[in-house]
This record gives sequence, C-alpha cells and structure tokens, in this order.
Amino acid sequence: MTAKKRNKTSSSSAYPRHRIEPGQHVKLSDIDPDDTGGYRDKAEVATLLEEQRVRIDGLQERLYAEHKQALLIVLQAMDTGGKDGTISHVFEGVNPQGCQVWPFKVPTPEELDHDFLWRHHTKTPGRGMMTIFNRSHYENVLVVRVHQLVPEQIWKARYDQINDFEQLLAANNTTILKFFLHISKDEQKRRLESRLQNPDKRWKFAIGDLKERELWDDYMKAYEDAINKCSTNYAPWYVLPANKKWYRNLVVARTIADTLESMNPQFPQPEEGLENVTIPD
Ligand code: AMP
Ligand code: MG
Repeated sequence: MTAKKRNKTSSSSAYPRHRIEPGQHVKLSDIDPDDTGGYRDKAEVATLLEEQRVRIDGLQERLYAEHKQALLIVLQAMDTGGKDGTISHVFEGVNPQGCQVWPFKVPTPEELDHDFLWRHHTKTPGRGMMTIFNRSHYENVLVVRVHQLVPEQIWKARYDQINDFEQLLAANNTTILKFFLHISKDEQKRRLESRLQNPDKRWKFAIGDLKERELWDDYMKAYEDAINKCSTNYAPWYVLPANKKWYRNLVVARTIADTLESMNPQFPQPEEGLENVTIPD
C-alpha cells in the first residue's frame, strides 16, 4: 500500500504505535520517554519536520477556505513537558487567521460558577479553524483529582462527561487529537534546573512546580486513568515520548498533517462564469 493510501483514514497515522486504542490499558512506566523511533538526532529529522510544517500550512489554508470542519488539538504534559515549545515549533508557518491557541490556567471564580466544561466549550474551534488547547478540560481529572479540589464522586463522573462532550464535538464536524507529552522525572529535573540557570527562561520557573513534582506518581496515575478511560475512536490520545524535543515535534507535526490530510479539506467551488470576467480600469 502506498503512503498516500495509508494516510487516507485517521487511524492510519505514521505513528500508530503512539496512539492509544480504546480499551487498551496503557502503563506509562512501560513507555520510554527517551524513545526516538530509531532516529538518531535532530539533524536527521530536520528536513522531515520541515516537510510536515509545509503540509500543515497548505492543508490548514484549505481547511480555513472550506469552512466546514474544525480541528481541536489538546496538549497535556507535566510542567516543562514541552507544550509551549511544541506550539512554537510545529505551528511556525501556520496562518494566524485560521489558528487559535487557548491556554487554560487556574479557573476564575466566574468559571468555577459553571460546569467544568463551560469555559472549554466556548473556546472549541468554529468551522474552518484549528485550535490548540494548552492544557485543557483534562485538568479536571488531573490537578483537580491529585489535589482533591472536588470530592471523588465528582471527578470520577467526569471521564464519561468528557467522552460525551468530545463525542458531541466530533458529531459536529470537529476532529480531535490529544497529545500527552511524556517526559521522565529526571528530564524534568534537568529542564527545571535549566530554567533556573538561564535568565531568559527564569520567568517560567514557578516555585509551585516543585510541589507538583513531589506528586509525580499521583499525576502519572491520574494521567493513566484519563488516557485509558478517554481514548476513543472519535478523540484518540497519543502518548508521545518527549524527552527529545525534536522527536516530539516531529511526531506531533506528522500526526497533525496526516489527520488534516484525512479530513481532506477542499477549496470552495469558485462562482460560475468567472472565466469571462474582466476587471474594469
Ligand atoms: P501553566 O500552564 O504552567 O502556566 O500553569 C497553569 C496552572 O493552572 C497549572 O498549574 C494547572 O494545573 C492549573 N490549572 C489548569 N486548569 C485547572 C483547573 N481546572 N483547576 C485547577 N487548576 C488548573
Ligand atoms: Mg508552568
């Protein structure tokens, strides 16, 4: 089968081994964050990454022009996991007019007065748009669970609620991709140290991140449950080995490009009779 044919359906991304199938019970400790899929270094994948950026750029233009479908990309990771870096590297060439990035921080009092999906639903992509959630509705079964910000029976009910929400979006022409950028605890230590040492990165260092780091194992458990309970055909999770930033960027970019290709966006038909039109002086 040719590569072109293989890319026709969303289940045939170039990286199926990073995709979590419904019913699969993934253990994060079994997934090596240093895995680079056989590639040796950044230089080896530079051209391949650039090719993916060009594909994304072209397909996104079609998606925007077509104005029928939308793409929602969820990025989740532990602190320093590379969400910001992925966004800047992968979406470099994308026309800002058709792309939005929404970061989700600690909810405001107004947001807390609503159901937990309210603030996310208002930011989902409209037709023609590609939207990135930098953190997402999943925080409601991650930080909220780890810190017991709501009773157990409340967060436990949320997996089904999230699946229902995503199913609703999918049924309304939104394709959903969810990436967990999987780094090791050692790698987080190196990245936190580098943030402390580098004056240009120090602004990103939050002392609170150390508290979260102490809860690493609890977070891994919470991530495992979120991924296992909410990886569906209509909104699959990908667990990406992310210690090597260049491999992470490549897999995210290629998965998005393959997905956009399978969505097959088309430029709208031009008005009839344009061949006879002359532009008056
Ligand atoms: P950052 O993305 O590193 O700027 O940090 C944003 C912070 O907001 C993280 O510590 C998240 O855990 C926190 N956050 C995001 N969503 C929620 C939520 N629903 N409830 C509580 N904290 C949240
Ligand atoms: Mg942070």
